[in-house]
Amino acid sequence: MRVKILGSAAGGGFPQWNCACQNCRALRSGTFRGKARSQTQVAVSADGISWFLMGASPDLRAQIEATAELYPREQNRPSGVRQSPIAGAVLANADIDHAFGLLLLRELQPLRVYATDSIRRILCEDNSMFGMLQRVAGQVTWATFVPGTTFPLETPAGEDSGLRCHALSLGTHYPAYVSPQRQSELTFGEASLGLVVESKSVESKSAESKSEESKIVESPSGKRLAYVPAVPQIDNALLKEFESVDVLLFDGTFWSDDELIRTQGSGQTAQQMGHVPVSSAEGSLSKLAGLRRPRKIYLHLNNTNPMLNEAGPEYRQVREAGWEIAEDGWEFEL
Ligand SMILES: [Zn+2]
Repeated sequence: MRVKILGSAAGGGFPQWNCACQNCRALRSGTFRGKARSQTQVAVSADGISWFLMGASPDLRAQIEATAELYPREQNRPSGVRQSPIAGAVLANADIDHAFGLLLLRELQPLRVYATDSIRRILCEDNSMFGMLQRVAGQVTWATFVPGTTFPLETPAGEDSGLRCHALSLGTHYPAYVSPQRQSELTFGEASLGLVVESKSVESKSAESKSEESKIVESPSGKRLAYVPAVPQIDNALLKEFESVDVLLFDGTFWSDDELIRTQGSGQTAQQMGHVPVSSAEGSLSKLAGLRRPRKIYLHLNNTNPMLNEAGPEYRQVREAGWEIAEDGWEFEL
């Protein structure tokens, strides 16, 4: 499986358009030791030909243009010049930062979008703009899944991509734009998910011979990726799940619980926003210290997070604990 990190910041990106925090100011003035980041976006592929997005970020258009693998291939007839290696997307929640990018993929492109029924209802039944994804037959096909079950990721034509996914139910809060009436009708446990993607071993072929000849061989040794950008708490079941994966892309939104309140003078704690902070005794750095199997990578960093500063003690502490901090453009194979 190939994994590409197209964006690694939390909602708002880094720098954020209306933020003059220490990090955003220093980055803009050119004195910051650290990187700008677009809003979190991950793409995965078993064969390097069909790609699936984990969510769809508001920065998706620029992220696609920065990623040659996601460029349309003109020679792919009979679809002609309008074509995309993006086969579909799997949604972990209905947040604007995570789902808005679907609207940027509206140019009558066939896609398969995987979501829980609750998330599909929020987007398709309550937000009429998403109707633009279903203007013609064969445009976006919604495929619903239930957390805890495993489902194959298929191309819009129904071909097996060689990837399997299962979702972990992590949070119970729906986005603030969902009306209380609608929230009362939705299923508990379908609001905010972690996604685990597993590959089977795939014999890749060139793009030209893809459809007929791509052979997928069932293999028990598939590698596993966990994508968990919003984790409200870490319990034993979650720890057990993480011990079974090869790469862990974990919630690195906030360094401390009161980070936003200290930065802007008011607001919510990290915990109230559904994010376990990195630091403190109850934080992820401490809680996940015993994880041995996965490569551990923090993703979804808020622009206020001091870990972004590569000259600072927080960055050093995280790196010394064996964690990496995701950057836009990273790629790895597993
Ligand atoms: Zn900022």
